[in-house]
Amino acid sequence: MSKFGPAQFGPDYVRAIAPYQAGKPIAEVAREFGLDEATIVKLASNENPFGLPESSRAAMLEAAADLGRYPDANGFDLKTALSQRYDVPLEWITLGNGSNDILEIAAHAFVQKGEAVVYSQYSFAVYALATQGVGGRAIVVPSVNYGHDLDAMAAAIDADTRLVYVANPNNPTGTFIPAEQVEAFLQKVPSNVIVVLDEAYNEYLAPQHQFESSAWVRKYPNLIVSRTFSKAYGLAGLRVGFAIAQPEVTDLMNRIRQPFNVNSLAQAAAVAALNDKVFLEKGAKNNAEGYKQMVAAFEELKLEYVPSFGNFVLVKVGDDEGAGARVNLALLKQGVIVRPVGAYGLPQWLRISIGLPEENAAFIEALKKSLS
Ligand SMILES: *Cc1c(COP(=O)(O)O)cnc(C)c1O
Repeated sequence: MSKFGPAQFGPDYVRAIAPYQAGKPIAEVAREFGLDEATIVKLASNENPFGLPESSRAAMLEAAADLGRYPDANGFDLKTALSQRYDVPLEWITLGNGSNDILEIAAHAFVQKGEAVVYSQYSFAVYALATQGVGGRAIVVPSVNYGHDLDAMAAAIDADTRLVYVANPNNPTGTFIPAEQVEAFLQKVPSNVIVVLDEAYNEYLAPQHQFESSAWVRKYPNLIVSRTFSKAYGLAGLRVGFAIAQPEVTDLMNRIRQPFNVNSLAQAAAVAALNDKVFLEKGAKNNAEGYKQMVAAFEELKLEYVPSFGNFVLVKVGDDEGAGARVNLALLKQGVIVRPVGAYGLPQWLRISIGLPEENAAFIEALKKSLS
């Protein structure tokens, strides 16, 4: 013990944080279970089963020549491409090291220690982490049918609330909130409370569910729309996401942002991916078909699942509290990596990312064996 007392580093709220549990990497599962990496199927992190677009690979090779220099801190080319795509000025865009970075930047820019953040039960784990990271007080609103209860979330906003996270579609449950309901919610939220609308899976929505949420940003100065290149665009390993918000909010986020938070390769790859319609369409088609393949198997096996609007599906693999962990282990032994969601308070469920048809089939076969 030192003369200052027992060594205890950091504030209480940092020590209270439960670390994020990522999907297991393929190499780790191969080592642990003595399997050949090439035979392992990973459907655990909602990654794009086609990998990165060829257009992005080519753009990165070209950008690699300049890696001796710092990235463009203002991300001019990428912001220009995004500004054209979403019809907003450059001053409305914040780039993130993944959209995870956007979620954290928002907490740092708008929430002080002790102030409140509202989010839903069973919503994305990073909302809790970002809130705790600034010593914020979490107001977790009970979910209805595994989705957000927006009326209850609006009612839960108290005088100390500075920020609300809404995931649409939500991860890990895959639920979706129609545009009219999101807009009705935005109308109810006090104008001094920031709403982060996290649309990481937006590109997977069927055309009838698509809504250009940048139109809401024009109407609501307290709204931040967050998007990512990690899912439909296939660039998860590069870490690039972005936010659209009005200039006052964007300016504050950019003060908190690390100047070089998005690296040069990521910026170049993202511009290419944004313009690669063919890749996006191929991914959406594969996802819609893979979803049908998964759901047909769950129905055959009489397993409950939550209808999903993302590139993954949540399925209940047993009635006892140990079901998720048990079936997960049985799947790992067969070389199939999925995501247990016990940490989300869903110990009977597993979240399966939708892969290529043969990957989905391998998972379904392994699931059948795991259940019998
Ligand atoms: C995957 C995901 C993200 C963030 O992913 P990044 O790779 O950091 O862009 C954000 N929100 C939700 C709901 C997600 O599922």
